Amino acid sequence: MKNNDIILSTEDLTKDFAGFVAVNGVDLQVKRGTIHALIGPNGAGKTTCFNLLTKFLSPSRGRILFKGEDITALQPADVARLGLVRSFQISAVFPHMSVLENVRIALQRQRGGSFDFWRSASTLNEFNDRALELIADVGLSSFADWVAVELPYGRKRALEIATTLALDPEMLLLDEPTAGMGHEDIDRIAQLIKRVAADRTVLMVEHNLSVVSDLSDTITVLTRGRVLAEGNYETVSTNPDVREAYMGV
Ligand code: ADP
Repeated sequence: MKNNDIILSTEDLTKDFAGFVAVNGVDLQVKRGTIHALIGPNGAGKTTCFNLLTKFLSPSRGRILFKGEDITALQPADVARLGLVRSFQISAVFPHMSVLENVRIALQRQRGGSFDFWRSASTLNEFNDRALELIADVGLSSFADWVAVELPYGRKRALEIATTLALDPEMLLLDEPTAGMGHEDIDRIAQLIKRVAADRTVLMVEHNLSVVSDLSDTITVLTRGRVLAEGNYETVSTNPDVREAYMGV
């Protein structure tokens, strides 16, 4: 599904916290079907940008367009319903339920709105089958019966991604998906993001530059709330301004 149309864009996106401008006139264009990384030093405005895109914060100025629709004034749940979903946003993981139960509940909420004890057995079986498919997609088949709280950290993040995928998003926002992980988990999550992105768009904030270089089609570098550079890893990593501001060399 790699084509060049823009699924998400911002125009002059700005967030002013009582005089401190955390995001300052950002124009972002994310192409459908790509993996797009947002990087930059601490305090650059990455998290604020994510909060603006999912409408957890309202911008002071500017517009956000998703699939051509102006979503600037929408509520977070409406943005999610349109298909722009942040991992760990709505899909809270219930710590004392199993992996299978967690994914099944996420699917039931997506399809049915609320819980319904009176669903037919065949509908429940359908949820079960789909949940097992999603669990397999994120590499958790052998953990399906595990209680979420007992999962190793990297597997827990995979479960969070599975419950997010249950919402069937067209575009996924991933907030530091490999934070706090060891090599093995990082490799596993990176492979998972590649698979997830095969038929979706992914925008991620990520600190690990080898993950960024391995996964990203496009990288936007933010510093002090502004876009400093944009392009593929080669372009961005050889940009002298980026090296100075971001990598400190
Ligand atoms: P990053 O995610 O790139 O580290 P953030 O978006 O978290 O950056 O923060 C950007 C800047 O905005 C920081 O200087 C931070 O202190 C400031 N900031 C973030 N949220 C608030 C807030 N609610 N009120 C005031 N300042 C904030």
